Amino acid sequence: MKIGFIGLGIMGKPMAINLAKKGYDLQVYDLNAANVGAVAAAGAAACASVAGACAGADVIITMLPNSPQVEDVVLSPGGVLESARPGALLVDMSSINPMVSISLEQKLAEKGLRMLDAPVSGGEPKAVDGTLSIMCGGRQEDFDQVRELLLCMGASAVLVGKIGSGNTAKLSNQIIVAMNIAAACEAYLLAAKAGVEVEKVFDAIKGGLAGSTVLNAKTGMMMAHDFKPGFRIGLHIKDLTNAMASAGSLGLQLPLSGQVLEMMKTLDAQGHGADDHSGLLRYYEELNQFTI
Ligand code: NAD
Repeated sequence: MKIGFIGLGIMGKPMAINLAKKGYDLQVYDLNAANVGAVAAAGAAACASVAGACAGADVIITMLPNSPQVEDVVLSPGGVLESARPGALLVDMSSINPMVSISLEQKLAEKGLRMLDAPVSGGEPKAVDGTLSIMCGGRQEDFDQVRELLLCMGASAVLVGKIGSGNTAKLSNQIIVAMNIAAACEAYLLAAKAGVEVEKVFDAIKGGLAGSTVLNAKTGMMMAHDFKPGFRIGLHIKDLTNAMASAGSLGLQLPLSGQVLEMMKTLDAQGHGADDHSGLLRYYEELNQFTI
């Protein structure tokens, strides 16, 4: 199986390297030549364009920042739509607006191409380990074709439903993570202001109903005020913006998501967009003029 891989950033680079290590016939492209070089060093063929990465590929994987970049790579002259061989399968692993996945799949289908949306959860460490959680939308037979390939990058790959469902699952994931971080900020601020040690609160509650993977991953960072990403506030703003757009198109109101989105936008305007999303704590600390 020949694979084209486009988008070799924080996530795409280790994911592509894992495929190269498994011996897949891989051809890779990114706007950033250094990223291409790093994956080529692991055994992939370096390409100078999207068309080069698509040439003759059975499966084309994209791991790009957001909807506009995926639309650009797929629809621009020389893009996937023009360059992929008939019958090829696009697996878009970027986290984008589910409506865009649906619209791209229709355009690709008109040219005899197939598509899955397959965003991931887990961040860079799990991309490196090949233990991401992968959530897919599309047809069962297309999912079956790449399930083994996906499991070289992830510990799990679940077909959630039709095209766009993977990104809807990802937005659900991002809502829960954002709420969890905001809840931790409020809880730890309350504890600290009441004179109770935050670390002891975490130890006491982590095994109970309030315990979570988010608390386990982020409590130490919050206590140390170490907001090196991890997952950047700017990316979470992108995901919550996509969640609010999806909710709007479905006639839904998501008041808590909207509020945390505004908090994150405030931090971004203050120059903290590149911080880890646990840096939401800054917002609360400034609001209350109190540091935990
Ligand atoms: P990134 O910004 O590090 O990487 C994106 C890469 O795409 C860059 O190398 C960039 O040069 C390349 N690119 C952009 N436009 C391009 C184009 N037109 N042609 C070719 N290459 C192009 O982003 P990332 O952190 O790797 O995230 C990728 C996706 O994964 C995003 O949708 C993000 O939300 C999602 N995600 C990220 C994390 C995380 O922890 N970083 C976790 C889960 C999911």
